[in-house]
Amino acid sequence: MESKTAALPHAGGAAANADAAAPSAPRTEQRAGPFQARTPGGEEPLDEIAETAPGAVRELVARARVAQVAWAEVPVGERAELIAKVKKRLLARAEEIAALVHRECGKPIEEAALAEVLPNADLVDYWTSSIEELLDESPVDLDPIAYPGKTGRIRRDPRGVVALITPWNYPVAIPLRTLVPALLAGNAVVFKPSEVAPRSGALVASLFEGLLPDGVLSVAQGGGDVGAALVDAGVDLVVFTGGVATGKKIAVACAERLVPTSLELGGKDSAVVLGDCDLERAARGVVWGAFTNAGQSCASIERVYVEQAIADRFITRAVALTRELRPGVDVGAMTTARQAAIVRRHLEAAVDDGAEILAGGAPPEGSLAFPPTVLRAPREDTPLLQEETFGPVLPIVVVKDAEEAIARTNASRFALTTSLWTRSHERAHALARRLRAGVVTINNHGFTGALPAAPWTGAGDSGSGVTSSPHALAELTRPRFVLDDRSRAKRELWWYPYTPALRTTAFAMARVRGGAGLFGRVRALVELVAALSRRLLGR
Ligand code: NAD
Repeated sequence: MESKTAALPHAGGAAANADAAAPSAPRTEQRAGPFQARTPGGEEPLDEIAETAPGAVRELVARARVAQVAWAEVPVGERAELIAKVKKRLLARAEEIAALVHRECGKPIEEAALAEVLPNADLVDYWTSSIEELLDESPVDLDPIAYPGKTGRIRRDPRGVVALITPWNYPVAIPLRTLVPALLAGNAVVFKPSEVAPRSGALVASLFEGLLPDGVLSVAQGGGDVGAALVDAGVDLVVFTGGVATGKKIAVACAERLVPTSLELGGKDSAVVLGDCDLERAARGVVWGAFTNAGQSCASIERVYVEQAIADRFITRAVALTRELRPGVDVGAMTTARQAAIVRRHLEAAVDDGAEILAGGAPPEGSLAFPPTVLRAPREDTPLLQEETFGPVLPIVVVKDAEEAIARTNASRFALTTSLWTRSHERAHALARRLRAGVVTINNHGFTGALPAAPWTGAGDSGSGVTSSPHALAELTRPRFVLDDRSRAKRELWWYPYTPALRTTAFAMARVRGGAGLFGRVRALVELVAALSRRLLGR
């Protein structure tokens, strides 16, 4: 059951949480008002969390800007030592984190521990052990004849103040994937968690409590208006994970302000099941990929294209495995009534369009306990196969062959991840190159979001932001090229005055480097030497 909790600024619990949420933030103006929170029936209500007033967000950003300058001066090795402590805190609080995410979002405890705690320990290890090397300056090769006395180096500088806006479906893991490298790179971060999971957001911030100078990490709690205020508050980068509609609004707002953005949006991931697959593994993998987190993952399997030759056997096995799933144990309740209503709408439209429900089916109206549902879908032009459903519904489409499966996969406006299920790895690699997806997994699905060294990215409506790996660090920093000139010459060839000798030099250079035959190039070389000598004599 979903209920709304009013956030009251005077409540003791709210004040305590506000502090935990913003370890280094000033006491910002709080406002009362409805604040969506999932409080499962029969359990004690969750703590209240005070919202940040949109008007107070600019102040958080201003403080972050001041704090960032000093933070960037801290040697990167020291920054890494401080942030490495987050791992121990995470692991020590594993049960508390899993319990909170379970209560706030409905995730089974096991799923919360496996997806929200353990991979984050790896994440901290990965970034804290590699950041010095990743941020190390790199030299640029310069031709000593064309550019005498000059050396160049590329540094990776922090962006400055990063706005981090996140969704509710992985309320601990998703923020940490950006927070850890962003802070290590010397940025300050103003973090706005989802209004559906504000307590998980506060918990994430509390993992850094006392480790960072004041203002380097602060939390703005609230909904879309607070997020919009943050985008408008003069930040240097917006890192957003969430829905397509919100992503587009943020992209427009950032374009108007010329603020760079990283957008990780929705998905409509397919699993392509080929005739030569290990059927048992494929069926088990697809059922997990569709129903983990109650299907509320950007990388959930939302379409299966199975080759005709094994379709009946695959469907029978997938349906049997789905019927074995225990509600509330293997598959949690959905997190929001709003999302459950979308899932119901897609399911009903698919049935109207001729799909046959083989397992599950919509629960009574208003219930969040959506059973894992499998359908055989005869047609592609139904919302269940076109739009992001974000719920525990698995439509299976029978296709003639791999070609048809790839064509259908690539026809989607989403392009996040896709899995191929086959025993022929060579063929799978060849097919993978033709798939429009940021991540392709062969005989597995979805879990690579937990690998800190593997980039997670998409195309089209899935957005093109990158999380994890050095590619993500490239977004969280900007390159700065530093050229050092130790030439003793009083002037460069190309400086003033522009003379006939300079003109002859320039065109002779062009002919020497190409655009003339061998004889022409030799003649140009002679001209070049003569013109260069005149030029070096000051003519
Ligand atoms: P959402 O877009 O409704 O909200 C995401 C965040 O944006 C929230 O914190 C929200 O308060 C904020 N927001 C809303 N309006 C805003 C505005 N105008 N300006 C600034 N911020 C604003 O998404 P959601 O329902 O929380 O999350 C589900 C979506 O997230 C799904 O579409 C899912 O696919 C996507 N997602 C994508 C990835 C990925 O890696 N690609 C990962 C997880 C979730």
